[in-house]
Amino acid sequence: MSLYAGFDLGGTRLKYGLIDSKEKIVFEEKTSSPSKIKDLLHLLKKLWEDLKKREKKGIKAVGFGFPGIFSLEEQRILQSPNYPELDNFELIPALSRFIEVPFWVNNDANMAAFGEFKCGAGQGVQSLIFLTIGTGVGSGIILDGNLWKGKCGFAGELGHVTVHPDGDMCNCGCQGCLETEASAPKIVKNYNSLKKTEEEISAEEVFRRAKAGDKAARQAFALAGKYLGIGLSIAINLLNPEKILLGGAVTAAGDFLLSPALEEVRKRSYRASFKCCSIEKASLGNKAGFIGAALWAREQSVK
Ligand SMILES: [Zn+2]
Repeated sequence: MSLYAGFDLGGTRLKYGLIDSKEKIVFEEKTSSPSKIKDLLHLLKKLWEDLKKREKKGIKAVGFGFPGIFSLEEQRILQSPNYPELDNFELIPALSRFIEVPFWVNNDANMAAFGEFKCGAGQGVQSLIFLTIGTGVGSGIILDGNLWKGKCGFAGELGHVTVHPDGDMCNCGCQGCLETEASAPKIVKNYNSLKKTEEEISAEEVFRRAKAGDKAARQAFALAGKYLGIGLSIAINLLNPEKILLGGAVTAAGDFLLSPALEEVRKRSYRASFKCCSIEKASLGNKAGFIGAALWAREQSVK
């Protein structure tokens, strides 16, 4: 049976694995993401050698999900707000030095969207928006059963749509993006500003406090939820999607985030469009990226 490898580079973790042609995970692993590109390439080379040793039958193709906007024309990442070492780096020639089989590079959230579409909570739908909310906000769009790339490959950046014109500055260079207003660091910032403190805590800790009844913690999530709702209503009115899938660590906060988000979506989107869109949790967790990358490589290689 043919095998396909997928790699998903996150800010802290590199997840990777092998998928067979029946879309079953044959192997999966994760390791720390090196911050230097030189170390990253060294690590990818080693992991690739290990995968080949593990699977004597041979791996047909490889897919990579990298953070940042990947130019289809130039075949490199032009801008990676959360992994700046990738900016304009000649990724394809560097990977070609040690990957001997066909391989494809794409945006990490696009790959996660494709994974959810092919074998996660997005199976069977024709239009889908996937959003992953963690340290940043990534997203990918499936339209009419295909990953929507846009003219140059930059489509699907819902995380960088303005939801708060006077909001925080974003790593992308703009202000008040969904990413700055609804991600984990902003939830911590909301909490500290409501409590008038400067505690160095995680969003998980704010969540724990919210569960314990801390009003400021609940409000911190509600504020992020409101901006999430604004972002989603823009997407709903623009695309009339069948499904929106929410993934990423921050969605573990459940109703503290999602109830205010849904309330905002209901208020701001066309009622008819809202009614035919189902907003659900994604189902593949942090595996979506590497699964999607492997399945993307399969789809491209059989074209
Ligand atoms: Zn931005």
